[in-house]
Amino acid sequence: MRRIVVGYSGGVTSAWAASWALRQFPKDEVVWLFHDTKEEHPDTYRFLKEFSEAVGHPITEQSDGRSVTQVFHDEHAIANNRMAFCSRILKAEQRDKYFKMLREQGVTDITNVLGFSAIEWQRVQRATARGWQGGYKTAFPLIDGNVTKQQAADYCASLGVRPPAMYRWSEHANCIGCVRGGKAYWLKVAEMEPEVFRQRSELETEFGHTILKNTTLVQLQQTGLKRAVRQRESIDIGPCECGG
Ligand code: SF4
Repeated sequence: MRRIVVGYSGGVTSAWAASWALRQFPKDEVVWLFHDTKEEHPDTYRFLKEFSEAVGHPITEQSDGRSVTQVFHDEHAIANNRMAFCSRILKAEQRDKYFKMLREQGVTDITNVLGFSAIEWQRVQRATARGWQGGYKTAFPLIDGNVTKQQAADYCASLGVRPPAMYRWSEHANCIGCVRGGKAYWLKVAEMEPEVFRQRSELETEFGHTILKNTTLVQLQQTGLKRAVRQRESIDIGPCECGG
């Protein structure tokens, strides 16, 4: 038995990859797998649901049940870009659990489809190596098809599904206040999601260590950036939806 498991994360590229899988494989073999971190942007949940309804394929959820913040408390630490254990616990371990369950049900052939783009070659290498170790295949259809994030966003819009609001200021539709973000990202969090910025700052004080190297979030807000930081892959998703 075979299963094609798409990492359905809430981003436009994973949505494009999810739709690609349905064009390539029988519908009953395709699983759109979502792991809830409980700290996604509300509009990301809207996007996940609307895209699923527009294409007519269900979302399969395998989640830990805790939020990112609950995991920080349980692990007595805040994760950061060097040690993103929230990602491991809330996503990677959930994927592995789901694959184990599939194997127990008699599935012998698993392909993990991921919506990574060509500039994310390090993620591709890591995911491919994980697949070798875990005994499953990996597929990166956006890279094979030369599809950009902008094209993926345009595809979603062509189905009448507005891309997630996170893209208005973030490169990825990750959790709000993602611990993998750099300085420019955190200054944007301070501007766009001040409550989340305050909550993450309080966590730094509570745990006595910082998310970023060599600076607290509060210090960063006071000093700002020494130089402008360019987004690695820009995305134009049109005017803000609060417009007319
Ligand atoms: S998106 Fe960021 S904060 Fe959320 S689980 Fe992944 S690494 Fe952690």
